Amino acid sequence: MAMALRAGVPLMDMEFFQFHPTGIAGKGMLITEGVRGEGGYLVNKDGERFMERYAPNAKDLASRDVVARAIVTEVKEGRGCGPNADHVMLKVDHLGEEIVSKRLPGIRDSAKIFAGVDPVVEPIPVFPTAHYVMGGIPTDRLGRVVVPLQHGPEEVVPGLYAAGECACVSVHGANRLGGNSLLDILVFGRAAGQDIIEYIKENPNHRPMNEASVEIAMSRLSRWEQPGEGITVRELRDEFRKVMEDHAGVFRTDEIMREGVERVKAVREKLKDVRLTDQSRVFNTARAEALELENLIDIGMAIALSALERKESRGAHSRPDYPDRDDKNWMKHSLYFQDEDRVDYKPVHTKPLTVETFPPKERVY
Ligand SMILES: Cc1cc2nc3c(=O)[nH]c(=O)nc-3n(C[C@H](O)[C@H](O)[C@H](O)COP(=O)(O)OP(=O)(O)OC[C@H]3O[C@@H](n4cnc5c(N)ncnc54)[C@H](O)[C@@H]3O)c2cc1C
Repeated sequence: MAMALRAGVPLMDMEFFQFHPTGIAGKGMLITEGVRGEGGYLVNKDGERFMERYAPNAKDLASRDVVARAIVTEVKEGRGCGPNADHVMLKVDHLGEEIVSKRLPGIRDSAKIFAGVDPVVEPIPVFPTAHYVMGGIPTDRLGRVVVPLQHGPEEVVPGLYAAGECACVSVHGANRLGGNSLLDILVFGRAAGQDIIEYIKENPNHRPMNEASVEIAMSRLSRWEQPGEGITVRELRDEFRKVMEDHAGVFRTDEIMREGVERVKAVREKLKDVRLTDQSRVFNTARAEALELENLIDIGMAIALSALERKESRGAHSRPDYPDRDDKNWMKHSLYFQDEDRVDYKPVHTKPLTVETFPPKERVY
């Protein structure tokens, strides 16, 4: 995605970032939803099954954004568990050792290794964790990257394709359902592959290489060869992680997001002061981490700015200052352009190709 941004392609709908409700608290490893599917449930510090209050029908099986918001609300309102009251508990001990070992062996291992608890006898400490981005590089249904140019918001960039999590063909809208990203890759990866074959048949030769682009790419690499003292990649990555945790989390307000955008800008500025202590040229993982950090910060800005600008709540994007979904003003895709840190919009397709149109409506529990 960051490569696309640097090439001038906008990223679409980056404010829609799904939080998985049950990451191991403080660590982030996922405890699958299958646990709640098998009968596990969440409790707060008073032992209350709080999901009954947030989603009386679906309870612990409500969608990811609903459960994630409920957990964060419990913690914010002082009903969190542990010495810092910063997580809730996922109970499975009532299922018995046989079911846990047979049907949920992976989570038993994860809980033991990363949380130090055996879920057969103790609950697992959990808190929402950033999981899946619904947004990405805008594509059409053939995986072709589409950008706004002279003739409309969706002109095909010749020869450029994206599919999978980096792409946004927008099948997931503002909140993906679990399992659907594999569908996304299979369907649109195949469509893209088939279209690429046709494209290559019609365009068998490379276009001439633009020397200026080569220079930009090479200077991005050689920039990490600067000697001397500076901030380490790890220090800046930790600072950036904290900024995103504090300012691009489950609940977003104007104040939180505005400050977040400024703090991401400050982190981005500090990138030029980062130095590698290992300058070796072969198998240098420090260099790869530095390049990754730059990419992460670019994506972080896309998320923070798109989230600040969308003044409504929809799917995974939750704004307590604009709590309602607002189809009149916000039934549109956001497009973040890296030049000038600018957010623009394009319309949503509402006419299916082969089935009857149905009006979009809010999901309620
Ligand atoms: C813990 C977890 C559980 C999940 N469970 C489910 C599930 O049950 N069902 C479901 O549908 N989805 C699930 N998802 C989401 C799903 O796994 C991802 O959306 C999907 O795997 C993305 O596939 P991808 O091929 O698009 O990207 P990736 O699998 O991320 O592949 C991208 C590849 O590109 C490589 N790469 C990156 N940059 C470069 C570069 N510059 N040059 C060369 N290579 C590069 C990476 O190393 C990587 O191998 C889960 C995700 C997580 C994290």
